[in-house]
Amino acid sequence: MRRVVIVGSGFAGFTCARKLCRILSRSDEDVEVVLVSPTDYHLYTPLLPDVAGGLIDPRFVAISLTDTLPRVKLVIGKVDAVDLDGKTVTITGEGDTRTELSWDRLVLTPGSVTRLFDVPGLSEHARGLKTIAEAVYLREHFLRQLELADHETDPAVRQALRTVVVVGASYAGTELIAQLRALADAYARRRGFDPTEIRFLLLDTADRVMPEVGNRLGDNALSVLRDRGIDIRLQTSLRELTEDQVVLTDDTVVPTRTVAWVTGVTGAPLLTGLDLPMERGRLVVDTSLRVPSHPDVFAGGDAAAVPDVTNPGKITPPTAQHATRQGKALARNVAASVGVGVAKPYKHRDMGLVVDLGPRFAVANPLGVHLSGFPAKAITRAYHTFAVSRGVNRWAITLSYLTNVVTPRPLSTLGLVDSGEASFTGSEGIPEHH
Ligand SMILES: Cc1cc2nc3c(=O)[nH]c(=O)nc-3n(C[C@H](O)[C@H](O)[C@H](O)COP(=O)(O)OP(=O)(O)OC[C@H]3O[C@@H](n4cnc5c(N)ncnc54)[C@H](O)[C@@H]3O)c2cc1C
Repeated sequence: MRRVVIVGSGFAGFTCARKLCRILSRSDEDVEVVLVSPTDYHLYTPLLPDVAGGLIDPRFVAISLTDTLPRVKLVIGKVDAVDLDGKTVTITGEGDTRTELSWDRLVLTPGSVTRLFDVPGLSEHARGLKTIAEAVYLREHFLRQLELADHETDPAVRQALRTVVVVGASYAGTELIAQLRALADAYARRRGFDPTEIRFLLLDTADRVMPEVGNRLGDNALSVLRDRGIDIRLQTSLRELTEDQVVLTDDTVVPTRTVAWVTGVTGAPLLTGLDLPMERGRLVVDTSLRVPSHPDVFAGGDAAAVPDVTNPGKITPPTAQHATRQGKALARNVAASVGVGVAKPYKHRDMGLVVDLGPRFAVANPLGVHLSGFPAKAITRAYHTFAVSRGVNRWAITLSYLTNVVTPRPLSTLGLVDSGEASFTGSEGIPEHH
């Protein structure tokens, strides 16, 4: 029996595993599909801002692999090393056990991690938004600061506890700050103080917010967010972070206890040890998603620099939209490589982006049509609920949104994730000295 090993259960790996099993089930080829993943779920990352804002429960964005991929052999663990010539992977599992697994075809889809910069104090005092641990921690940590502020007698410390800094004004950071603002508003209303006492700062080195959605929608979002009391500072980032303050690049000192770093991504740490050609932190592949020097190795999603044939000279952006479709292309091309069907180059024209910006507002540019306000909100919610790959998760997410129409988002904390588990190393696996 031949074996295909898929590394990572993100959009690319999950979709590849699902489709590959379907293709193989219609053939006589004896091929085992193994999926190696540190979690037993596929994470629907686009809704992490809603989790951080307490709008939806973290379990609803975790799609069970056991329920959705019954024919795939699931190995819970992390691939630490790949022997490209000996055709094996080494996996570290529960309790640091190490297993070696051989493969006939290898699919590298370990995705990406938060891109960190050499800013003193960054990894100690900021948290990202790539995992459930980070989203849950951000929400609970922030609510805890609000609770502490209620009893704080020193006005300066109270203001620091009631200040949030988000770095990164592309869509993920902007969605995050909009959701945290909504959470803060709900808290202040319940506690009977003025929500504007909770201060929000959004920073970016660029001169626009969300360049991905174009100038018009970006400007629209900027003015709505400013109306909500979010202080947006462009061409500004962080110079230094300590436990109780940040220093901006324009030397402004902002006392705060809550800093989110959402400035973009780079390929997963596994990739750097492979000794394969990389482009902008991603593995070089051809249009069939094959690693050129190793025809039995495929890669896709955020981990791969996939040529964008609709945009010659460019690579596809790191989005779930591309990763999902690349997952399908990977399945087709891997199946073809074991004698089932024919391979095809990857080609997908970008369909645009939907960005949920909290209560009653969103922007979206589906197929180049620029929308904001209610129509964008309806499309954004419909798109995400449809795109989640399991019916019961879709149902739970829809119910959460409906519940929020009639009752404010919950404000209790469970304290299940500690600061270390939510750190860039603890949750994303970024080596301490990146
Ligand atoms: C907050 C946020 C919001 C976003 N919103 C959108 C959006 O609205 N629309 C959109 O198109 N995109 C969005 N994205 C981008 C999107 O999430 C990514 O492009 C997408 O997840 C990439 O899919 P992937 O399969 O390549 O990688 P991932 O989804 O990152 O999955 C990679 C998987 O591999 C696993 N892995 C890593 N290393 C190893 C290893 N060594 N061994 C085994 N497994 C490993 C990881 O644990 C992970 O499960 C958003 C991202 C974030 C963070």
